[in-house]
Amino acid sequence: MLQQAREMLKKVYGYNSFRTGQEDIISGILEGRDTLAILPTGGGKSVCYQIPSMLLPGTTLVISPLISLMKDQVDTLNRLGVPAAFLNSSLSAGEYRDVLRNAMNGGYKLLYVAPERLDAPMFDSLSEQLNIPLIAIDEAHCVSQWGHDFRPSYRQLAGWIGRLANRPLVAAFTATATNEVAEDISAMLGLRQPNVFVTGFARPNLSLSVVSGTDKKQFLHKFLAEREDQSGIIYTATRKEAEQVEELLIRKGIAAGKYHGGLSDNDRAAAQEKFRFDELRVMVATNAFGMGIDKPNVRFVVHWQMPGDIESYYQEAGRAGRDGEESECVLLFEPADVQVQRFLIEQGTGDTDRKNIQLNKLYTMMNYSRTQRCLQQFIVDYFGEKGVEPCGKCSSCLDKSELVNRTSEAQKALSCVGRMKGRFGVTMAAKVLKGSRDKRLLEFGLDRLTTYGLFNNWPEKEIADWLYWLVAEGYLRMSDGQYPTVSLAASALPVLEGKEQVMQRLRTTVKRSASSGGAVVSSPMFEALKQWRKETAARENVPPFMLFFDSTLKELTDARPATEEQLLQVKGIGGAKASKYGAELLAIIGKFAGESPAETERQAQASVSSARTASNTADEGPSHLLSLQLFNAGLSPQDVAKERGLSRVTVEGHIIRCAEEGLQLDWSRIIPEQYEELIARTIEELSADKLRPIKDALPEEVDYFAIHGVIAKYGFKAAQGG
Ligand code: ADP
Ligand code: ZN
Repeated sequence: MLQQAREMLKKVYGYNSFRTGQEDIISGILEGRDTLAILPTGGGKSVCYQIPSMLLPGTTLVISPLISLMKDQVDTLNRLGVPAAFLNSSLSAGEYRDVLRNAMNGGYKLLYVAPERLDAPMFDSLSEQLNIPLIAIDEAHCVSQWGHDFRPSYRQLAGWIGRLANRPLVAAFTATATNEVAEDISAMLGLRQPNVFVTGFARPNLSLSVVSGTDKKQFLHKFLAEREDQSGIIYTATRKEAEQVEELLIRKGIAAGKYHGGLSDNDRAAAQEKFRFDELRVMVATNAFGMGIDKPNVRFVVHWQMPGDIESYYQEAGRAGRDGEESECVLLFEPADVQVQRFLIEQGTGDTDRKNIQLNKLYTMMNYSRTQRCLQQFIVDYFGEKGVEPCGKCSSCLDKSELVNRTSEAQKALSCVGRMKGRFGVTMAAKVLKGSRDKRLLEFGLDRLTTYGLFNNWPEKEIADWLYWLVAEGYLRMSDGQYPTVSLAASALPVLEGKEQVMQRLRTTVKRSASSGGAVVSSPMFEALKQWRKETAARENVPPFMLFFDSTLKELTDARPATEEQLLQVKGIGGAKASKYGAELLAIIGKFAGESPAETERQAQASVSSARTASNTADEGPSHLLSLQLFNAGLSPQDVAKERGLSRVTVEGHIIRCAEEGLQLDWSRIIPEQYEELIARTIEELSADKLRPIKDALPEEVDYFAIHGVIAKYGFKAAQGG
């Protein structure tokens, strides 16, 4: 069976190998075991139930809460040649009947159903008349009250499955589940000794950043200007802000749209379609925009404000990079945003228990916004996954900004909190440190503490921020509940005893991570393929990604298949697409293969892309060699720097080092020929141990790169620095 599953993956989807977890999950299902699978967004959950559905007799029922996602999934399946349909409220009565009739006749391998559409009689009649080998439950965390997205209709469903006489296999899938929620899902759905697969929550293609203490508007302008060809989402907390930010962007000439709960259904649907079809580059939205975004090429998600919990944040941010390509997630943080969220929770409906759960989630979110730990690690840790290595590309990991020693301020704050004996909140502690004449403070006699007024020249808000930072770093602890109190955590003691230093960084910029996309090296053939995709997609009235992802077009450009067989080797091209579009693709590729001055360019492209692939892997090998590879592929040091997220000086250093190691390179690209002799003579005269005088003695346009180049080429005794 597993062999067949592998063949399906290749034949139907055009993928060569399973992703982590997929094979285990599929073979578990095929062996007849209930399954609980926790895979990150973009991890490839759909394949895990779609392939079994094709191999098992009968019709697999897929429960999914997301109507627009259902349509996409069904469209995608039909394009792959798999009979599938959906039942949800977007169908007219007539369409609904047709689908149902066809389903009863066994016309589909997969039938997607919205839980809201199901009632007990309907469910019973489906299960009586269909041969259902498997019920796949997508977004299974909706069944749990502990999750962030509880839906009563999921709860009902669980009951119905439980009392089926001939119970099918049940496989539950979700991207977000803490241990608590995972156990709840299993119990609520009545999974029978399920195989539980947790493949890890880390999303290696996402670079997470937190940016605080910056002008948000300025930040956004710069961020978008540096990513001109990229599409992304900006999440705001309120409708009003969504409107404002959208307006701001449009005024700057950016193709932006908006999406929030205050717009009509039509406006929302239109905006979403435009975004999917790449007509809008940036979508400014509230969290109403979410259900069912499966646009694979979202390259960035910026949060204008902090959301209320890590689950929501990771789910929203996780909409970036579903196609597996490098993508960025930026959280703009301002301490005041915590108060907004807190207010929303306190004003919200729900009992005290529920509010307390939400408040605790909010505090964790706040800690995320302030932590100096690896952000990816912080998140997976929250979901219960321990021992994950730092990602190496989040804003914490990349932060090389100077550490400020704040031990003395930490000691003052900690000792104040210690003296308040865990009976008060952060606000009161801040007031004490400020030396406030607050009435309650005086009533409690807190002005008699020796730490009273220690920070009397700080603004009170800044003191509170400082305390929150100490919470985030684990020196202080907050109690649960609506009025949390603050107390010392174990790691405060070594600080108070002077055994440990407290260091803080201040972050303001998002550095491009070393492996993040950068400009895609384009080629005429790639452009032609994109153009063809655009026209064909428009003709078929589907978004371009529904035909092929960029990565597939890129691979076509590199591999230049000449036959249908070779075409099928390309990732993302399965049988159905090959027979439908194969001839057209081969014709376009053939046209470029004919005019073959492109051959050298092709090689350059291929080596750029292989260098890029290399620089994308975690184990990237010697950095200077990667720089050389890109340089030799024709990129200037500046472009290499951009590509790799390094500074130009670093890249030039890499290239010189390669030159010293005797690696092959084109010297004339380092040393302008007309100056070579002059530079060499000048070095000889002045000796190579100080570069500055050499530089000054040479014409303006001779740069340090050229001087270093000559030193390396002629084997002068190298200078230090420059
Ligand atoms: P999820 O539902 O877990 O967020 P999807 O099922 O939508 O993820 O899959 C994300 C993307 O990854 C889809 O474009 C899918 O076709 C692709 N994909 C899934 N499995 C593989 C695989 N084994 N190899 C390559 N791509 C895959
Ligand atoms: Zn990191």
